[in-house]
Amino acid sequence: MQGYVHSIETLGALDGPGLRVVVFMQGCPLRCRYCHNPDTWPMAGGTEYAPTQLIAKIKRYKPYFLHGGGVTVSGGEPLLQQEFVKEFFKLSQKEGIHTALDTSGFKLDDGTKELLEYTDLVILDVKHSSSASFYELTGHKMQGLLNFLAYCKKKQQPLWLRQVLVPGLTDSEEQIKDLARLMRGANLTKAELLPYHTLGVKKWQALGYDYTLEDVQPPSAAELAKWQQLLENYLKENLK
Ligand code: SF4
Repeated sequence: MQGYVHSIETLGALDGPGLRVVVFMQGCPLRCRYCHNPDTWPMAGGTEYAPTQLIAKIKRYKPYFLHGGGVTVSGGEPLLQQEFVKEFFKLSQKEGIHTALDTSGFKLDDGTKELLEYTDLVILDVKHSSSASFYELTGHKMQGLLNFLAYCKKKQQPLWLRQVLVPGLTDSEEQIKDLARLMRGANLTKAELLPYHTLGVKKWQALGYDYTLEDVQPPSAAELAKWQQLLENYLKENLK
């Protein structure tokens, strides 16, 4: 079995605990309006790897994983190549390497469930908490995410919640409150809002895609901190 990898980032400190190697898989079915990696969308392309080739490359970094680090598979959308990721995670765990899956959780089927058996942490990027706005933002229905999240709750899968704070689209009290409500019952170990940024705009233009958020400015640090605090407050209410 072969997997198609868009790129590999060594020793990132953002996508999971500790220092990590982040593997970005090729292909994504969503079309998030703020996506900064539209070059990952097509299934065609990327570098071909067998799971054994990928683990041989990554295990060289094991000395850096000592303090809770490991490997994160991101994208694109890694669930599009879930069989490959499962085989790769199996090999990673055999090497004692912590595995994290950074996903939009857009679907749940038997293959997804098998992959989660070898996933130590899911980093779940919830694009929006209302189904109509989710569709408007991603061009994809929300039901797959709801199924994926329900299954994670049932098996108490360790989860990090992520959402991009997009001024005018996700920065409303109702949206944040509903987001917290959505996570009720999840085994949540971290929740973070990431600031919208415009670093991907040039890629959209180069690929000939129409970028629709041109007038949106990134949130200030103070705005981000305010919404982050609100999210944490609502999440605490889930525990009462
Ligand atoms: S899920 Fe990620 S890669 Fe796919 S369109 Fe959205 S931001 Fe881009």
